[in-house]
Amino acid sequence: MQPIAISAVKEFSSQAWQIELQCPQCGAPLVLEETDRMLSCSFCRVRLYLAPEGQPRYYLAPKENVPKNVLFAPYWRFKGMVFSMDDHGVTERLVDSNLLALRSQCFPFSLGIRPQVLRLKFIAPGTGGRFLSPAFPFRGYQMDRDQAPGFRGSLTGGHASRSKAFIGDMVSLIYSPFLVKHGILFDAILDSPAPECSEMPGEELPLEQDPECKMSFIPMLCPACGWDLEGDKNALVLLCSNCDSAWQAAGESFEKVDFGFLPSNDDASLYLPFWRIQATISGAKLKSYADLIRLANLSKPIPSRWEEHPAAFWIPAFKIQPQLFLRLARLFTTSQQSADAQNTIPHSPLYAVTLPLAEAVEGIKVLITSLAVQKDSILSLLSETMITPDECSLIYCPFVLKGTELIHPTMQVSISANALNWGKLL
Ligand SMILES: [Zn+2]
Ligand SMILES: [Zn+2]
Repeated sequence: MQPIAISAVKEFSSQAWQIELQCPQCGAPLVLEETDRMLSCSFCRVRLYLAPEGQPRYYLAPKENVPKNVLFAPYWRFKGMVFSMDDHGVTERLVDSNLLALRSQCFPFSLGIRPQVLRLKFIAPGTGGRFLSPAFPFRGYQMDRDQAPGFRGSLTGGHASRSKAFIGDMVSLIYSPFLVKHGILFDAILDSPAPECSEMPGEELPLEQDPECKMSFIPMLCPACGWDLEGDKNALVLLCSNCDSAWQAAGESFEKVDFGFLPSNDDASLYLPFWRIQATISGAKLKSYADLIRLANLSKPIPSRWEEHPAAFWIPAFKIQPQLFLRLARLFTTSQQSADAQNTIPHSPLYAVTLPLAEAVEGIKVLITSLAVQKDSILSLLSETMITPDECSLIYCPFVLKGTELIHPTMQVSISANALNWGKLL
């Protein structure tokens, strides 16, 4: 077996990539972290929410001002959790990787550490240069890795896993500049010949006609009452404490998010958000809570009313270490708390929603595999299955801080406060 390309599947690094942009209102230069969703300008005081259309597209600037003949090569960037599912169960890991999005021997297969030392910029009208089209979508990259130059060998070692899920919201396209000088391909950042280049890029590589990153800047005001919306700088859901509503970006505006708070007897120290998803799972008998308990073969007696109680999947709406992510999803899903959620936003601190609903839906197959006792048969079934979310809401669950542990008051579950701080860096 050949060694795996370490730099392309480099383990998690806590260093945030930085993005340079201009305030859309006053033009002042600003620097954001890659996970920031909010821009607050210290010059003109505007507060705006960033909503990119699709995956954000950035470029790394060449050493000189962008020369006309510079050629930008695309790289997919992924940061998040990868779950591999097979007959033995689920294994999980964190991945921080980038990979050339072209089937070409012309360019290095990875960006290396450049984005950690250089700032990224959004591709704007008039950036200049020529941008190559990515040859495959991000979701194809795991299937594609055998063909990708430099990305050889198995990620998991001996036996290939039957199925993989990528969960994380950090998928972006990053363009890196190259120049042809005297018949040699140069890395235009370092101004030195590009390593690993065995061919010259030819005309066969199609150019992107419209490479700009389409970005909406939404004023951070509640669409219902005009109050300032609140949330951490990386939050995907913003709250209005004036009219008790929750909002997420949808295109160029905010749309309402269905939400609730589970009641707490003790004063909660912190509320953690979960996506509660009722979904249709084609081909599987997984409609009721009773079905879920049978799937997991939990030694609980099954009262008949559970046959009528619809199954809901509870997926953490925040990024956290992947083992803990899956453990929380299992615990909350199998306990199906039925207490009525309230729509009044409490005064206790709320942990920011950092995992989008779409990613949580991706997590349902992983969760089912992890719960199932008969992993072999569930995996064959799930490979054909479509998961269609029917009813989704954001449920905040109370936790009480005791020492350095956050404890759920009724369930036997505790999370170290450190684990949450660490998850913020994901
Ligand atoms: Zn400004
Ligand atoms: Zn409001």
